[in-house]
Amino acid sequence: MRDGIVGAVANLPQDLALRLPRHEHDAQLGVANHRLGDRHPPGVELRHEHLGGDAVVDLLRPLRPRAASVFCFHRFADPDLGNTGHDLTALRRNLGFLRRHRLPVVPLADLIATLEAGEQPRPGTVVLTIDDGYADFANAAAPVFAEFDCPTTVFVVSGFVDGALWLWWDRIEYIFRETARTGIALDVEGRPYSGQWSTPGERRAEAGRLAVMLESVSEETRQRILAEIVTKLEVQVPSRPPARFAAMSWDDVRRCERTGVTFGPHTVTHPILSRVADAAAAFEIGESWKQLRARTAAAVPVFCYPNGSAPTFGERERRLVRDCGLRAAVTTSPRYVTQKGFAAGADARFVLPRFAYYDDLPHFAQAVSGVERVRSMARAFGTR
Ligand SMILES: [Zn+2]
Repeated sequence: MRDGIVGAVANLPQDLALRLPRHEHDAQLGVANHRLGDRHPPGVELRHEHLGGDAVVDLLRPLRPRAASVFCFHRFADPDLGNTGHDLTALRRNLGFLRRHRLPVVPLADLIATLEAGEQPRPGTVVLTIDDGYADFANAAAPVFAEFDCPTTVFVVSGFVDGALWLWWDRIEYIFRETARTGIALDVEGRPYSGQWSTPGERRAEAGRLAVMLESVSEETRQRILAEIVTKLEVQVPSRPPARFAAMSWDDVRRCERTGVTFGPHTVTHPILSRVADAAAAFEIGESWKQLRARTAAAVPVFCYPNGSAPTFGERERRLVRDCGLRAAVTTSPRYVTQKGFAAGADARFVLPRFAYYDDLPHFAQAVSGVERVRSMARAFGTR
Protein backbone atom coordinates (compact mmCIF):
# COMPACT_ATOMS: atom_id res chain seq x y z
CA MET A 1 0.00 0.00 0.00
CA ARG A 2 2.74 2.37 1.00
CA ASP A 3 4.74 1.72 -2.16
CA GLY A 4 1.63 2.06 -4.24
CA ILE A 5 0.72 5.43 -2.83
CA VAL A 6 4.27 6.75 -2.80
CA GLY A 7 4.67 5.55 -6.34
CA ALA A 8 1.44 7.17 -7.41
CA VAL A 9 2.42 10.43 -5.77
CA ALA A 10 5.78 10.27 -7.50
CA ASN A 11 3.97 9.87 -10.79
CA LEU A 12 1.82 12.92 -10.30
CA PRO A 13 2.59 15.83 -12.60
CA GLN A 14 5.77 17.42 -11.41
CA ASP A 15 4.42 20.46 -9.65
CA LEU A 16 0.96 19.15 -8.78
CA ALA A 17 1.58 19.29 -5.06
CA LEU A 18 2.51 22.94 -5.28
CA ARG A 19 -0.58 23.68 -7.26
CA LEU A 20 -3.03 21.90 -4.98
CA PRO A 21 -5.72 24.05 -3.41
CA ARG A 22 -4.69 25.44 -0.08
CA HIS A 23 -7.86 24.32 1.58
CA GLU A 24 -7.23 25.54 5.11
CA HIS A 25 -6.62 28.99 3.78
CA ASP A 26 -9.34 28.68 1.19
CA ALA A 27 -11.88 27.72 3.80
CA GLN A 28 -11.22 30.87 5.78
CA LEU A 29 -11.37 33.02 2.71
CA GLY A 30 -14.39 31.09 1.59
CA VAL A 31 -16.29 32.34 4.62
CA ALA A 32 -15.55 35.96 3.80
CA ASN A 33 -16.19 35.10 0.19
CA HIS A 34 -19.59 33.66 1.14
CA ARG A 35 -20.59 37.00 2.56
CA LEU A 36 -19.23 38.97 -0.33
CA GLY A 37 -20.67 36.73 -3.00
CA ASP A 38 -17.42 36.41 -4.89
CA ARG A 39 -16.95 33.61 -7.29
CA HIS A 40 -13.42 33.17 -6.10
CA PRO A 41 -11.69 34.18 -2.89
CA PRO A 42 -9.33 37.10 -3.16
CA GLY A 43 -5.65 36.44 -2.73
CA VAL A 44 -5.72 32.80 -3.77
CA GLU A 45 -4.09 32.28 -7.09
CA LEU A 46 -4.89 28.90 -8.55
CA ARG A 47 -2.70 27.72 -11.33
CA HIS A 48 -3.91 24.60 -13.07
CA GLU A 49 -3.04 25.54 -16.58
CA HIS A 50 -1.40 22.21 -17.37
CA LEU A 51 -3.80 20.03 -15.46
CA GLY A 52 -7.35 19.39 -16.58
CA GLY A 53 -9.96 17.91 -14.28
CA ASP A 54 -10.37 14.82 -16.43
CA ALA A 55 -6.64 14.12 -16.26
CA VAL A 56 -6.67 14.23 -12.49
CA VAL A 57 -9.64 11.90 -12.21
CA ASP A 58 -8.09 9.35 -14.58
CA LEU A 59 -4.73 9.54 -12.88
CA LEU A 60 -6.12 9.02 -9.41
CA ARG A 61 -8.87 6.53 -10.18
CA PRO A 62 -7.00 3.66 -8.46
CA LEU A 63 -6.58 5.77 -5.34
CA ARG A 64 -10.11 7.10 -5.15
CA PRO A 65 -10.92 6.91 -1.46
CA ARG A 66 -13.87 5.10 0.06
CA ALA A 67 -14.88 8.50 1.28
CA ALA A 68 -17.29 11.26 0.45
CA SER A 69 -16.49 14.80 -0.61
CA VAL A 70 -19.22 16.99 0.82
CA PHE A 71 -19.20 20.37 -0.92
CA CYS A 72 -20.46 23.64 0.48
CA PHE A 73 -21.89 26.25 -1.89
CA HIS A 74 -23.10 29.70 -0.96
CA ARG A 75 -24.46 32.14 -3.50
CA PHE A 76 -25.12 31.71 -7.22
CA ALA A 77 -24.90 34.47 -9.80
CA ASP A 78 -28.42 35.46 -10.75
CA PRO A 79 -28.88 38.25 -13.29
CA ASP A 80 -32.54 38.56 -12.27
CA LEU A 81 -31.55 39.42 -8.71
CA GLY A 82 -28.38 41.33 -9.56
CA ASN A 83 -26.12 39.42 -7.20
CA THR A 84 -22.76 37.78 -7.76
CA GLY A 85 -21.97 34.20 -6.86
CA HIS A 86 -21.02 30.88 -8.41
CA ASP A 87 -21.16 30.97 -12.17
CA LEU A 88 -23.90 28.74 -13.61
CA THR A 89 -21.94 27.90 -16.76
CA ALA A 90 -19.11 26.62 -14.57
CA LEU A 91 -21.65 24.76 -12.43
CA ARG A 92 -23.03 23.01 -15.54
CA ARG A 93 -19.51 22.05 -16.60
CA ASN A 94 -18.64 20.71 -13.13
CA LEU A 95 -21.87 18.74 -12.71
CA GLY A 96 -21.34 17.38 -16.21
CA PHE A 97 -17.90 16.27 -15.10
CA LEU A 98 -19.38 14.35 -12.15
CA ARG A 99 -21.85 12.63 -14.45
CA ARG A 100 -19.28 11.89 -17.17
CA HIS A 101 -17.12 10.09 -14.65
CA ARG A 102 -20.11 8.34 -13.10
CA LEU A 103 -19.21 9.59 -9.66
CA PRO A 104 -21.96 8.77 -7.16
CA VAL A 105 -23.73 12.04 -6.31
CA VAL A 106 -25.93 11.11 -3.35
CA PRO A 107 -28.37 12.95 -1.08
CA LEU A 108 -26.91 13.96 2.28
CA ALA A 109 -29.47 11.77 4.06
CA ASP A 110 -28.23 8.72 2.11
CA LEU A 111 -24.65 9.40 3.13
CA ILE A 112 -25.67 9.64 6.79
CA ALA A 113 -27.69 6.40 6.48
CA THR A 114 -24.66 4.64 4.94
CA LEU A 115 -22.42 5.82 7.76
CA GLU A 116 -24.98 4.94 10.44
CA ALA A 117 -25.19 1.44 8.98
CA GLY A 118 -21.45 1.10 9.57
CA GLU A 119 -20.70 1.04 5.86
CA GLN A 120 -18.14 3.00 3.91
CA PRO A 121 -19.20 5.51 1.26
CA ARG A 122 -18.69 4.32 -2.30
CA PRO A 123 -15.38 5.55 -3.74
CA GLY A 124 -15.68 9.06 -5.07
CA THR A 125 -19.02 9.81 -3.41
CA VAL A 126 -20.07 13.44 -3.76
CA VAL A 127 -22.65 15.30 -1.65
CA LEU A 128 -23.75 18.83 -2.55
CA THR A 129 -24.91 21.29 0.11
CA ILE A 130 -25.85 24.97 -0.09
CA ASP A 131 -25.80 27.29 2.92
CA ASP A 132 -28.20 30.02 4.05
CA GLY A 133 -31.23 29.77 1.73
CA TYR A 134 -30.79 32.73 -0.62
CA ALA A 135 -33.33 33.28 -3.40
CA ASP A 136 -30.64 32.76 -6.05
CA PHE A 137 -30.61 29.03 -5.30
CA ALA A 138 -34.31 28.62 -6.00
CA ASN A 139 -34.33 31.06 -8.92
CA ALA A 140 -31.17 30.17 -10.75
CA ALA A 141 -29.27 27.16 -9.42
CA ALA A 142 -31.93 24.60 -8.51
CA PRO A 143 -32.93 24.05 -12.18
CA VAL A 144 -29.28 23.39 -13.06
CA PHE A 145 -28.84 20.80 -10.32
CA ALA A 146 -32.13 19.24 -11.46
CA GLU A 147 -30.95 19.20 -15.09
CA PHE A 148 -28.01 17.00 -14.03
CA ASP A 149 -30.16 15.01 -11.61
CA CYS A 150 -27.88 16.06 -8.78
CA PRO A 151 -29.53 16.01 -5.33
CA THR A 152 -28.80 18.94 -3.03
CA THR A 153 -29.43 19.87 0.58
CA VAL A 154 -29.99 23.52 1.44
CA PHE A 155 -29.24 24.64 5.01
CA VAL A 156 -31.72 27.41 5.67
CA VAL A 157 -31.66 30.23 8.20
CA SER A 158 -35.31 30.03 9.22
CA GLY A 159 -35.78 33.70 10.20
CA PHE A 160 -34.21 34.73 6.89
CA VAL A 161 -36.59 32.53 4.88
CA ASP A 162 -39.45 33.90 7.02
CA GLY A 163 -38.56 37.31 5.55
CA ALA A 164 -37.99 38.62 9.08
CA LEU A 165 -34.35 39.61 8.76
CA TRP A 166 -31.31 40.40 6.69
CA LEU A 167 -28.25 38.24 6.99
CA TRP A 168 -26.03 40.57 9.00
CA TRP A 169 -23.03 40.66 6.63
CA ASP A 170 -25.37 41.64 3.80
CA ARG A 171 -26.60 44.55 5.86
CA ILE A 172 -23.00 45.76 6.24
CA GLU A 173 -22.36 45.36 2.52
CA TYR A 174 -25.54 47.30 1.74
CA ILE A 175 -24.65 50.14 4.10
CA PHE A 176 -21.09 50.43 2.77
CA ARG A 177 -22.42 50.34 -0.77
CA GLU A 178 -25.10 52.98 -0.27
CA THR A 179 -23.38 55.49 1.97
CA ALA A 180 -22.30 58.90 0.68
CA ARG A 181 -19.55 58.88 3.31
CA THR A 182 -16.09 57.71 2.33
CA GLY A 183 -14.77 56.29 5.57
CA ILE A 184 -15.48 55.24 9.14
CA ALA A 185 -13.60 54.50 12.36
CA LEU A 186 -14.98 52.09 14.96
CA ASP A 187 -13.95 50.48 18.20
CA VAL A 188 -14.56 46.73 17.97
CA GLU A 189 -14.10 45.46 21.54
CA GLY A 190 -10.87 47.37 21.91
CA ARG A 191 -9.63 46.68 18.39
CA PRO A 192 -9.72 49.71 16.11
CA TYR A 193 -11.36 49.38 12.71
CA SER A 194 -10.71 52.19 10.30
CA GLY A 195 -11.71 52.06 6.64
CA GLN A 196 -11.75 54.43 3.68
CA TRP A 197 -13.15 53.76 0.25
CA SER A 198 -13.85 55.35 -3.07
CA THR A 199 -14.49 52.59 -5.61
CA PRO A 200 -17.26 49.95 -5.41
CA GLY A 201 -14.54 47.31 -5.00
CA GLU A 202 -13.07 49.14 -2.02
CA ARG A 203 -16.53 49.44 -0.48
CA ARG A 204 -17.08 45.70 -0.76
CA ALA A 205 -13.60 44.91 0.52
CA GLU A 206 -14.05 47.14 3.57
CA ALA A 207 -17.49 45.69 4.28
CA GLY A 208 -15.92 42.23 4.13
CA ARG A 209 -13.06 43.23 6.42
CA LEU A 210 -15.44 44.59 9.04
CA ALA A 211 -17.67 41.50 8.77
CA VAL A 212 -14.68 39.26 9.50
CA MET A 213 -13.88 41.33 12.59
CA LEU A 214 -17.48 41.04 13.78
CA GLU A 215 -17.37 37.25 13.67
CA SER A 216 -15.22 37.11 16.77
CA VAL A 217 -17.18 39.53 18.97
CA SER A 218 -20.15 39.05 21.28
CA GLU A 219 -23.65 39.25 19.86
CA GLU A 220 -24.21 42.50 21.80
CA THR A 221 -21.13 44.11 20.27
CA ARG A 222 -22.14 43.02 16.78
CA GLN A 223 -25.60 44.51 17.19
CA ARG A 224 -24.10 47.73 18.62
CA ILE A 225 -21.66 48.08 15.71
CA LEU A 226 -24.41 47.37 13.18
CA ALA A 227 -26.48 50.20 14.72
CA GLU A 228 -23.43 52.47 14.89
CA ILE A 229 -22.57 52.12 11.20
CA VAL A 230 -26.16 52.90 10.20
CA THR A 231 -25.95 56.14 12.17
CA LYS A 232 -22.41 57.14 11.22
CA LEU A 233 -22.77 56.27 7.55
CA GLU A 234 -26.23 57.82 7.36
CA VAL A 235 -27.96 55.09 5.40
CA GLN A 236 -31.66 54.22 5.48
CA VAL A 237 -31.78 50.42 5.66
CA PRO A 238 -35.06 48.90 4.44
CA SER A 239 -36.65 46.45 6.86
CA ARG A 240 -36.58 43.68 4.27
CA PRO A 241 -33.49 42.92 2.22
CA PRO A 242 -33.62 44.07 -1.43
CA ALA A 243 -33.66 41.42 -4.17
CA ARG A 244 -29.90 40.92 -4.40
CA PHE A 245 -29.78 39.97 -0.68
CA ALA A 246 -33.15 38.20 -0.49
CA ALA A 247 -33.95 34.76 0.87
CA MET A 248 -35.93 32.09 -0.87
CA SER A 249 -39.50 31.90 0.42
CA TRP A 250 -41.16 28.91 2.08
CA ASP A 251 -43.09 28.51 -1.17
CA ASP A 252 -39.73 28.25 -2.94
CA VAL A 253 -38.72 25.62 -0.39
CA ARG A 254 -41.80 23.53 -1.21
CA ARG A 255 -41.32 24.05 -4.95
CA CYS A 256 -37.70 22.88 -4.71
CA GLU A 257 -38.78 20.01 -2.48
CA ARG A 258 -40.81 18.65 -5.40
CA THR A 259 -37.63 18.40 -7.48
CA GLY A 260 -35.83 16.40 -4.80
CA VAL A 261 -34.09 19.16 -2.87
CA THR A 262 -33.87 18.51 0.87
CA PHE A 263 -33.37 21.04 3.67
CA GLY A 264 -31.44 21.20 6.93
CA PRO A 265 -31.48 23.72 9.81
CA HIS A 266 -28.90 26.51 9.95
CA THR A 267 -30.18 28.54 12.97
CA VAL A 268 -32.88 31.24 13.09
CA THR A 269 -30.70 34.36 12.70
CA HIS A 270 -27.19 33.07 11.82
CA PRO A 271 -25.30 34.23 14.91
CA ILE A 272 -21.85 32.88 15.71
CA LEU A 273 -23.15 30.29 18.16
CA SER A 274 -20.13 30.26 20.45
CA ARG A 275 -20.68 34.00 21.05
CA VAL A 276 -24.28 33.78 22.31
CA ALA A 277 -25.71 32.85 25.73
CA ASP A 278 -26.92 29.32 26.51
CA ALA A 279 -30.62 30.11 26.04
CA ALA A 280 -29.98 31.84 22.71
CA ALA A 281 -27.88 28.96 21.41
CA ALA A 282 -30.60 26.48 22.40
CA PHE A 283 -33.24 28.63 20.69
CA GLU A 284 -31.24 29.12 17.49
CA ILE A 285 -30.68 25.39 17.07
CA GLY A 286 -33.99 24.01 18.38
CA GLU A 287 -36.30 26.59 16.81
CA SER A 288 -34.70 26.40 13.37
CA TRP A 289 -35.18 22.64 13.36
CA LYS A 290 -38.77 22.96 14.59
CA GLN A 291 -39.60 25.59 11.95
CA LEU A 292 -38.08 23.55 9.20
CA ARG A 293 -40.04 20.43 10.09
CA ALA A 294 -43.25 22.49 10.22
CA ARG A 295 -42.61 24.00 6.79
CA THR A 296 -41.35 21.14 4.66
CA ALA A 297 -41.65 17.38 4.42
CA ALA A 298 -38.11 17.33 3.04
CA ALA A 299 -36.34 18.26 6.29
CA VAL A 300 -33.09 16.36 6.86
CA PRO A 301 -31.96 15.95 10.49
CA VAL A 302 -28.50 17.37 9.89
CA PHE A 303 -27.50 20.72 11.35
CA CYS A 304 -25.11 23.25 9.79
CA TYR A 305 -23.11 25.53 12.12
CA PRO A 306 -22.95 29.20 11.04
CA ASN A 307 -19.43 29.93 9.80
CA GLY A 308 -18.60 26.30 10.56
CA SER A 309 -14.98 26.64 11.61
CA ALA A 310 -13.92 25.18 14.94
CA PRO A 311 -13.91 28.24 17.23
CA THR A 312 -17.45 29.21 16.19
CA PHE A 313 -19.03 26.18 17.85
CA GLY A 314 -18.01 23.74 20.55
CA GLU A 315 -19.10 21.06 22.97
CA ARG A 316 -22.20 23.03 24.01
CA GLU A 317 -23.43 23.34 20.42
CA ARG A 318 -22.74 19.66 19.67
CA ARG A 319 -24.76 18.70 22.76
CA LEU A 320 -27.64 20.99 21.82
CA VAL A 321 -27.73 19.58 18.30
CA ARG A 322 -27.76 16.03 19.64
CA ASP A 323 -30.43 16.85 22.26
CA CYS A 324 -32.74 18.20 19.54
CA GLY A 325 -32.75 14.77 17.94
CA LEU A 326 -30.60 15.88 15.01
CA ARG A 327 -28.52 12.99 13.69
CA ALA A 328 -25.42 14.83 12.51
CA ALA A 329 -23.95 18.26 11.80
CA VAL A 330 -21.62 19.73 9.19
CA THR A 331 -18.70 22.15 9.50
CA THR A 332 -16.39 23.87 7.02
CA SER A 333 -13.35 21.84 7.99
CA PRO A 334 -11.99 20.77 4.56
CA ARG A 335 -11.58 16.99 4.81
CA TYR A 336 -13.25 13.85 3.48
CA VAL A 337 -16.11 12.12 5.27
CA THR A 338 -15.14 8.53 6.05
CA GLN A 339 -16.64 5.70 8.06
CA LYS A 340 -13.57 5.75 10.28
CA GLY A 341 -14.02 9.47 10.96
CA PHE A 342 -17.76 9.10 11.54
CA ALA A 343 -17.21 6.31 14.06
CA ALA A 344 -14.28 8.01 15.81
CA GLY A 345 -16.35 8.94 18.87
CA ALA A 346 -19.85 9.85 20.00
CA ASP A 347 -19.37 13.45 18.86
CA ALA A 348 -17.71 12.73 15.51
CA ARG A 349 -21.00 12.72 13.61
CA PHE A 350 -21.60 16.30 14.79
CA VAL A 351 -18.45 17.66 13.16
CA LEU A 352 -18.65 16.26 9.63
CA PRO A 353 -16.23 18.07 7.31
CA ARG A 354 -17.00 19.82 4.04
CA PHE A 355 -14.95 21.27 1.22
CA ALA A 356 -15.61 24.77 -0.07
CA TYR A 357 -16.81 24.64 -3.69
CA TYR A 358 -14.99 26.65 -6.33
CA ASP A 359 -15.96 27.21 -9.92
CA ASP A 360 -12.72 26.10 -11.54
CA LEU A 361 -12.88 22.48 -12.63
CA PRO A 362 -9.34 21.37 -11.74
CA HIS A 363 -9.79 22.61 -8.20
CA PHE A 364 -13.17 20.86 -7.92
CA ALA A 365 -11.86 17.70 -9.58
CA GLN A 366 -8.91 17.46 -7.23
CA ALA A 367 -11.13 17.39 -4.16
CA VAL A 368 -13.45 14.84 -5.79
CA SER A 369 -10.56 12.67 -6.92
CA GLY A 370 -8.87 12.30 -3.57
CA VAL A 371 -5.87 14.50 -4.28
CA GLU A 372 -6.21 16.02 -0.84
CA ARG A 373 -6.06 12.56 0.66
CA VAL A 374 -3.03 11.62 -1.40
CA ARG A 375 -1.30 14.77 -0.29
CA SER A 376 -1.87 14.06 3.39
CA MET A 377 -0.69 10.46 2.91
CA ALA A 378 2.40 11.70 1.10
CA ARG A 379 3.17 13.97 4.02
CA ALA A 380 2.65 11.13 6.47
CA PHE A 381 5.07 8.98 4.49
CA GLY A 382 7.61 11.79 4.39
CA THR A 383 7.66 12.13 0.64
CA ARG A 384 7.38 15.90 0.79
ZN1 LIG B 1 -24.31 30.31 6.70
